[in-house]
Amino acid sequence: MFTVSEGICSARESVVMEEKCRICLSLTAATLEEDLRLLESRREFVDLVELRADFLDAAELAYLPSFPKRAGLPVILAIRRKPDGGRWHGAEGKRRDLLGRALSGRYAYVDLEEDLALTEAVKRNAARVIRSLHDLSGVPNGLAERLRSLAHKTGEIPKLAVTPGSTKDLPALVDAYQQLEGQEKILIGMGEFGLFSRIMATKLGSYLTYCSVAGSEQEAPGHLDPRTLVRLYRFRKQDRETFACGVIGNPIAHSRSPEFHNRGYETLGLNGVYIPFLVDDVPAFFRLARMLELRGFSVTMPHKRAVLPHLDERDGTLARIGACNTVVRRPSGGWYGTNTDVQGFLAPLRARVPRLMSPETRATVIGAGGGARSVVYALSSLGIRPLILNRTVEKAHLLGEAFQCEWGGVDSDGIARMQNHADLIVQATGVGMEPDAGADPLPEYRFSGSEVVYDLVYKPLMTVFLKRAREAGCRIVSGLAMLYSQGAAQFKHYTGFELPPEALDSQNPIVK
Ligand code: NAP
Repeated sequence: MFTVSEGICSARESVVMEEKCRICLSLTAATLEEDLRLLESRREFVDLVELRADFLDAAELAYLPSFPKRAGLPVILAIRRKPDGGRWHGAEGKRRDLLGRALSGRYAYVDLEEDLALTEAVKRNAARVIRSLHDLSGVPNGLAERLRSLAHKTGEIPKLAVTPGSTKDLPALVDAYQQLEGQEKILIGMGEFGLFSRIMATKLGSYLTYCSVAGSEQEAPGHLDPRTLVRLYRFRKQDRETFACGVIGNPIAHSRSPEFHNRGYETLGLNGVYIPFLVDDVPAFFRLARMLELRGFSVTMPHKRAVLPHLDERDGTLARIGACNTVVRRPSGGWYGTNTDVQGFLAPLRARVPRLMSPETRATVIGAGGGARSVVYALSSLGIRPLILNRTVEKAHLLGEAFQCEWGGVDSDGIARMQNHADLIVQATGVGMEPDAGADPLPEYRFSGSEVVYDLVYKPLMTVFLKRAREAGCRIVSGLAMLYSQGAAQFKHYTGFELPPEALDSQNPIVK
């Protein structure tokens, strides 16, 4: 931790942090009072703060020199211009004067863009320079070289904040980290694609990682609350040896897998972290996963089929199911794929409605994507041949042919045919999932009340479809039960341990 003397602390006193990456809270309120209130609400989770003076009301700027003493921990002063992603639109001379005056207040660091010289004021006030470049349009070529050339002189910390617009941009980021191994640097991938660079900042070798209070001005996709970083992603416990796993999907922010995998690591005292990756390009993700030495990753919508050609080894059932939700790195470095959705789907049914585990059961599956394929495979393993209905009829056709099932479209004809396949209805499309939680995948279908209705969607827990079914008197099964049982099997694949039951308890205080 930083040493703090009389509420003021210089960057040079902070070398005791050693290899641990610092957590920096970005403060973006309109008043210093409000910034201090935000800091107080997260003080236990942060090592330093960045005061974004460009967010402050003009009347507040006169009080900038007093802020470090009031904050009582190291402060980075930043007055960011509009083209760099900030809000400062005043004259450059005025900004330079303001920085010079503010620095008399013993700021530990000052964030200066590469084109801004402030040598005298900085020297006089002993603030350490973070020399920054913000690229809001993408990820420039030659990242490592750009970073290296940023520092104007010895002692400055180069900082590059870039904006990956695709998974394809990410390997270059990790490559730059690796090229600059052992050197002080800050490299951030902004936005949701870059989230991993904030969570894995210690392992990647960043000097600090930025976060912001949830609900504050700064909050945006890819930003993290320090409480989440520490409690959910166990940031304080991470080091260079921490193993990493994750989940890939698009969208991915809704995924609950990070909650229970990370809770499992915490409960068992494993040095691991589990990260959500927004992925729009599967081959690029495999390159990234290799560079990050991921132990394994879970696969969700829409990539369960797209990962198949990239596997080096496969579980014997994968070819038949045609969907993979679990990828594990073998000691040889190759990727092994398996599917835990099948057992994950059956476990809640077996526990709650065992009478349905019979070839006599008449069932319908809505959907023909990766999840539906696992469901159809699971049902056929019991001798059940469900009716398959899908928006894209051709996909229902292909799946139906593969498993000798009837198939059709999600239309009046399909709904009429459901009358003979209605002991169990499995909803396996993404319809009704947040953020489009109001959508009903089958609005014309009228439940009789005798169906068991199983919705694979788990966010929200009670989908519109399940709610209608329950109101009609049906027994319902939420996708969360499946998520947990398939996730427990994945946990075993990644760690060799059983997932502890406490990890499934959403009231578990480890992650609030
Ligand atoms: P996927 O492979 O991308 O398939 C998506 C399916 O949803 C396809 O059948 C698609 O139909 C259908 N669909 C998407 N948007 C639609 C719309 N607007 N109207 C009608 N149909 C639509 O995804 P997946 O991996 O199968 O996942 C599907 C859902 O199951 C997701 O919500 C996922 O989170 C959930 N899931 C949950 C678990 C769990 O453990 N609880 C496990 C697996 C999946 P088209 O073929 O016409 O595009």
